[in-house]
Amino acid sequence: MMESGNMERVGYIGLGVMGTPMSSNLLKKGFEVTVFDIDQSKVPPLVELGASSAGSVAEVSENSDIVITMLPGSPQVTDVVSGSGGIIESGRPGMIVLDTSTIYPKDTDALAEAAEAAGMIFVDAAVGGLPPQAISGTSLFMVGGEAEDVERVRPLLEAMGDTIIHCGPAGTGIRCKVVNNFLTMITAKANAEAFSMAMKAGLPADTIWQVVTGTTATNGCLTTGWLSKMFSGDLEPGFAMRLARKDLSLGIRLADELGVDTPLADLALDHYDELLGSKYADKDFSAIVSAACEAVGVEDPVLDRRRP
Ligand code: NAD
Repeated sequence: MMESGNMERVGYIGLGVMGTPMSSNLLKKGFEVTVFDIDQSKVPPLVELGASSAGSVAEVSENSDIVITMLPGSPQVTDVVSGSGGIIESGRPGMIVLDTSTIYPKDTDALAEAAEAAGMIFVDAAVGGLPPQAISGTSLFMVGGEAEDVERVRPLLEAMGDTIIHCGPAGTGIRCKVVNNFLTMITAKANAEAFSMAMKAGLPADTIWQVVTGTTATNGCLTTGWLSKMFSGDLEPGFAMRLARKDLSLGIRLADELGVDTPLADLALDHYDELLGSKYADKDFSAIVSAACEAVGVEDPVLDRRRP
């Protein structure tokens, strides 16, 4: 553990499914962390681990050298960073705003500009991996920022993850994330169609899982993300359906701005919209398979041999 006197003071805003385990890892690695969430019930577990609790975003800024945001999407991040009483208004020159949320990339650009205009530094470090990786400190970070600023945040990222990819200047990390999740959400829909067909054909779930994960058909939903979720019969959100829909729409918007056609993604987005109007709206995104199975009258492909 480093000497606490040498460490930057960290602010952490957004203690949800990801923010709680990630800030816990900072505390366990000896960082001084001040936390805030509009939902006060999220705070006590972090205070038990040694965090200081702030009553507002401004109070977080006043007590931090680097403020991390891990919030649902663009409206919340924009409000917390550049809104009234936000980090930029209440912060100091030289402070770093480290956004790890998944938001609209042009909003990232605007926040980076606003931070720079205030003499502050913006680094985007979107997160690859799901809650199990956030808990075990093995998240992947895709980082956009100047090299020296990325070095300043690296000790924090290393406390929360095991793979840190410096993608380029501010805004490149979030663009990598949007491209990544665009692919994941389309893949999820393809998995749903394939597994519902397999179950309807009467194939044992373990058998079809073993086949497709042993060939080029394999993908990370099947081999990591969904093993502790739908494949274990657990549909409670790790990565929520509404976040999956948000991320796919961010990808379509980015592609549209770049003049890239996305016919597959457009179809998939319609399907996510349907799911948000169904009983699967508040479930994990792996419930996309459950919806497809239900539609053809078969059980979910719960595996006998589940993995963590
Ligand atoms: P979440 O909804 O569980 O957590 C968000 C937290 O932010 C909540 O505790 C909420 O109370 C808090 N919040 C909302 N508005 C706030 C405000 N104005 N001020 C302070 N706190 C506020 O979401 P999550 O699953 O932790 O995801 C957070 C971000 O990380 C999203 O952008 C998501 O797309 C991204 N992400 C999620 C996962 C995942 O597997 N869940 C993985 C990678 C990236």
